[in-house]
Amino acid sequence: MKTSVTSRALINLDALRHNLARVKQAAPETKILSVIKANAYGHGVLEVAEALSASDAFAVARLDEALILQKYLLEHEIKKNIILLEGVFCAEDYQQCKAQKLIPVIHSLEQFQWLYESGCTLDYWLKIDTGMHRLGLSENDLEYLINQYQQIDADYLPAVVISHFSCADEVENPTNQTQIKQFNQQSDLLACLKGVDSFQKSMANSAAILSHSDAHFDWVRPGIMLYGISPFETATPSRNGLDENLKPVMTLSSELISIKNLKKGDCIGYGASWCCPEDMTIGVIAIGYGDGYPRHAPSGTPVLINNMEVPLVGRVSMDMITVDLGALEKNQIPFQMGDRAILWGKGLPIEKISQKAGTIAYELLCQITQRVSFEYE
Ligand SMILES: *Cc1c(COP(=O)(O)O)cnc(C)c1O
Repeated sequence: MKTSVTSRALINLDALRHNLARVKQAAPETKILSVIKANAYGHGVLEVAEALSASDAFAVARLDEALILQKYLLEHEIKKNIILLEGVFCAEDYQQCKAQKLIPVIHSLEQFQWLYESGCTLDYWLKIDTGMHRLGLSENDLEYLINQYQQIDADYLPAVVISHFSCADEVENPTNQTQIKQFNQQSDLLACLKGVDSFQKSMANSAAILSHSDAHFDWVRPGIMLYGISPFETATPSRNGLDENLKPVMTLSSELISIKNLKKGDCIGYGASWCCPEDMTIGVIAIGYGDGYPRHAPSGTPVLINNMEVPLVGRVSMDMITVDLGALEKNQIPFQMGDRAILWGKGLPIEKISQKAGTIAYELLCQITQRVSFEYE
């Protein structure tokens, strides 16, 4: 059906559920914390949460995201805990967490102090730094906190102890084993000093779920793999989600809005940076960086039209890209204005595009703008 909508992100909820089942298959004994921060990696957090209701809990980065999600979950009677991966940024926000039954991560002594001084008790997850050196308690911080714990109420103990890998996408990187070892040591220290058998633990993101079963522990935290994307795309560029038995969730497409016959030597687009080496048929597609298509995608980046890959030529503009339609002609595949062009998704793995554009699929997904119409199937 012809609509006025050109750029469109079609979200396949069955693929999302398939990918969650794939997580379950990789980590069958473990609870699943589905990571749906940043609007579910650009897919639409509310729709994604509903489709992933077989998860054990959800994670977002910040309080504002959690409040929107919690409201929706309550309205739809979906009972799931929501974890705040960055915790709170001021003491007062703990009241909100408590009122809304959100579970913050505590990753610094300041955050712990705010909680303790506010007199508020709530479930929280404690993050320790095992080598990422971004968020999390250092060994010294932990030692300090353990001393505190010995003097205060058991209500202030964490529910789960977590850490995060810095290089999990590089399967053979020795940092991974170092971090796992450090994590086990630190969390054991915490547990034994308090006379608890052990805390629940969580460490694995998508890459570790697929490659380090010794890091599965009690909770796994899949993000990118839920959306059908290989977590190994930077380390192993030839691999994509299909190699991991994942299915792409988002298919981004738009429409062929003009077809032109250009002469050898004619140059295309801003900066006239790409010139026809011969007489050519060029297609104009209604999508650009104003929709979130990466401006850095170079000539040669594939676009899928009528099941055939054709190369981008010339610069990406705000509202348009241009492609060489020669391959369609050569293979006698008919095309016309109004045909849909797939930028990534079904038939064209996003990993191919992120690699060409010198970025990662995570960024491409998060960059999609409001002009793109989201549809769910
Ligand atoms: C974003 C995030 C994840 C998910 O990572 P993926 O690589 O997308 O699987 C897991 N844990 C934490 C703490 C995160 O911030």
